[in-house]
Amino acid sequence: MAGNITFTMIKPDAVGAGNVGAITKMIQEAGFTIKAMKLTKMSGERAGQFYAVHKERPFYADLCKYMSSGAIVPMILEKDNAVEDFRKLIGATDPTKAEAGTIRNLFAKSIEANAIHGSDSDENALIEGSFFFSQTEQF
Ligand code: ADP
Ligand code: MG
Repeated sequence: MAGNITFTMIKPDAVGAGNVGAITKMIQEAGFTIKAMKLTKMSGERAGQFYAVHKERPFYADLCKYMSSGAIVPMILEKDNAVEDFRKLIGATDPTKAEAGTIRNLFAKSIEANAIHGSDSDENALIEGSFFFSQTEQF
């Protein structure tokens, strides 16, 4: 059965552009409950750890630099079928391919600065949530 928790993070481009409120509103209106949320910033080293799965990809170094360039807003979200439904709400990685009305379609600047992260599995949702919040199991 699909889990009811996912992890997201509003990325530096969207925080810098003042879109935290608009994005958070869309998330809540889509039926997600925010269980944990904070404004923080990653060092380049922390960004590298978060995206370690991509370390062989050509965009890895740029991605780590970008993700540590400004404030981010990580959140733990709850909803039935959370992981899949949230990936639908944010749209494709490349905003030029993201469906109309998705968060990336509306707010992303580029394939790298694409406004928001969404976990790709129940397992990764817990790992990524724990990266920013303690006692994730209580959510
Ligand atoms: P998603 O965030 O949709 O799960 P990936 O896990 O494939 O996408 O990639 C992680 C992040 O790396 C993306 O959200 C984006 O910020 C960046 N990224 C992915 N592909 C590229 C690319 N071709 N060029 C630059 N940055 C990329
Ligand atoms: Mg991914």
